[in-house]
Amino acid sequence: MTDVRVIINREPDREERVVTTGTTAAELFADDRSIIAARVAGALKDLAYAVQDGDEVEPVAIGSKDGLDILRHSTAHVMAQAVQQLFPEAKLGIGPPVKDGFYYDFDVEKPFHPDDLKAIEKKMQEIIKRGQKFSRRVITDEAAREELAAEPYKIELIGLKGSASSEDGSSVEVGGAELTIYDNLDAKTGEHCWGDLCRGPHLPSTRQIPAFKLMRNAAAYWRGSEKNPMLQRIYGTAWPTKDELKAHLDFLVEAEKRDHRKLGSELDLFSIPEEIGSGLAVFHPKGGIIRRTMEDYSRKRHEQEGYEFVYTPHATKGKLFEKSGHLDWYADGMYPPMQLDEGTDYYLKPMNCPMHNLIFDARGRSYRELPLRLFEFGTVYRYEKSGVVHGLTRARGFTQDDAHIYCTREQMADELDSTLTFVLGLLRDYGLTDFYLELSTKDPEKFVGSDETWEEATEVLRKVAEKQGLPLVPDPGGAAFYGPKISVQATDAIGRTWQMSTIQLDFNLPERFDLEYTAADGSRQQPVMIHRALFGSIERFFAVLLEHYAGAMPPWLAPVTVTGIPITDEHVPYLQEVAAELRKKGIRVDVDASDDRMQKKIRNAQKSKVPFMLIAGAEDIAAGAVSFRYRNGEQKNGVPLAEAVAEIVDAVERRIQV
Ligand SMILES: [Zn+2]
Ligand SMILES: [Zn+2]
Repeated sequence: MTDVRVIINREPDREERVVTTGTTAAELFADDRSIIAARVAGALKDLAYAVQDGDEVEPVAIGSKDGLDILRHSTAHVMAQAVQQLFPEAKLGIGPPVKDGFYYDFDVEKPFHPDDLKAIEKKMQEIIKRGQKFSRRVITDEAAREELAAEPYKIELIGLKGSASSEDGSSVEVGGAELTIYDNLDAKTGEHCWGDLCRGPHLPSTRQIPAFKLMRNAAAYWRGSEKNPMLQRIYGTAWPTKDELKAHLDFLVEAEKRDHRKLGSELDLFSIPEEIGSGLAVFHPKGGIIRRTMEDYSRKRHEQEGYEFVYTPHATKGKLFEKSGHLDWYADGMYPPMQLDEGTDYYLKPMNCPMHNLIFDARGRSYRELPLRLFEFGTVYRYEKSGVVHGLTRARGFTQDDAHIYCTREQMADELDSTLTFVLGLLRDYGLTDFYLELSTKDPEKFVGSDETWEEATEVLRKVAEKQGLPLVPDPGGAAFYGPKISVQATDAIGRTWQMSTIQLDFNLPERFDLEYTAADGSRQQPVMIHRALFGSIERFFAVLLEHYAGAMPPWLAPVTVTGIPITDEHVPYLQEVAAELRKKGIRVDVDASDDRMQKKIRNAQKSKVPFMLIAGAEDIAAGAVSFRYRNGEQKNGVPLAEAVAEIVDAVERRIQV
């Protein structure tokens, strides 16, 4: 036996070790049961991998990102084995890990029933208990075709070797340099129980799946194309511990309660009528109040920050988007054209920028006018595939709180700095407080403008981002071809992150539109252009706030801030006087004068998530007071009227949550 020298890399420690030929990664990490795979020269390997001379080997723990993917994908194998045992005619599609879980696609005669999922889960438990080994076997294309003759989808994948894509998940199966099959072998007898064409790696044994659950099934086209057969997809989730699985399931229940589509209909805020079409929402009066309040406040703050308001149409001749380049690189995201005036193509606009450029260019501009900040609540239309349209967060028509800033190169640093400060301040006003920033920098393969300009702009963005004292996550190569960008990611009340605002530099459009201003020395100069959307879209931000607050909007945003609840009918006139007093101060208030009993009125107000209930009976009236009932059920009795009004007005003015 010859010696093999390896480096074991456990960040930050590196250790050189000499082992005998044939030593496996499993043996290197035998002291740590949380290690389920290894990374060698950047590639993930099974623990059964025999290390080679010169290898640098990193342990992969089950709780790491790679480890979770391997756990989840291995669980997908177990599910596929269970499905084929219960439904021998089922043909296999693909089974990649996804965020928080995995799926596997099957060609079966009829969709799975919820009872089927239970039976599959049970079968999976059996397979896990038996501790089958995942065993890797290299195979030639020819031999694989023969072995997988009964699996038409797998055969198709064999042909993709080398061109497999991570987009449709096929790279999980055949993304490696050589074709491999993973066999599940009985722990005791070594007998072959099941096998699947797969790149790997996997857990060493099915017994290492600590906690999993099947979630749901759905129809899905083979490799995502509508031209292909419809398969049945089962989604599942898997975690390193039972506690983590439970926490995840609890989180899903909470997220479901907060789903803005559900709250939107429960609270009568908006709908997406089938008659209008997918991704095109209408706002009902109560949702309209929230939206208008959001817009009014935003408008006021933009005015204070020196933005000027513009308006542009929803449709334009195609020529404009030829000039901007959108028809070259964004046509898939646009609604198809309509032909007017003897064959001229008109498009619904997917972006407002080109129109704002025309406003900039409508007359000569002097350096004295810069920075020029053009703001618009601009409604745009984007063609999103029906599969990705989702409530208000991914719609086909929506209104951006869009601004374009034109400034000189010298003004760029200050302008970006004040823009980011403004953006974060405004988000905080709406009640989001937990942020991190992401800095997307140049893709060296795809960019316009000079290296020098990119470097300067990226440095400026980095500095202004660091100044905020927030975590800054690099996104190398993630910038659009036309400029670097900062995006603000906000964490909501249940820990989900949402991309909110973006501040995007653009070196492309000023060139394409030949934008110029006259500098102090009389020369013609090109302005720096910054795209900036703060909410992203109003609809999306509305949805994020609705989910963040679980529908219980803070008093300043709530459609109704106060509901007056009389103990009996006699007390209605008194509450109406109180309501009139509050209305004078700009508070949205109604009095429940219906026939319902008081307890029912309280329940109704609770259901509609009203921030303040004001209850009044004979005692309150005699004392010139009211009683508060808050959302959490607490009550405060006999509050003098002036004090009650002041408390409500204060909560609205300070935009606090109650
Ligand atoms: Zn696999
Ligand atoms: Zn823009």
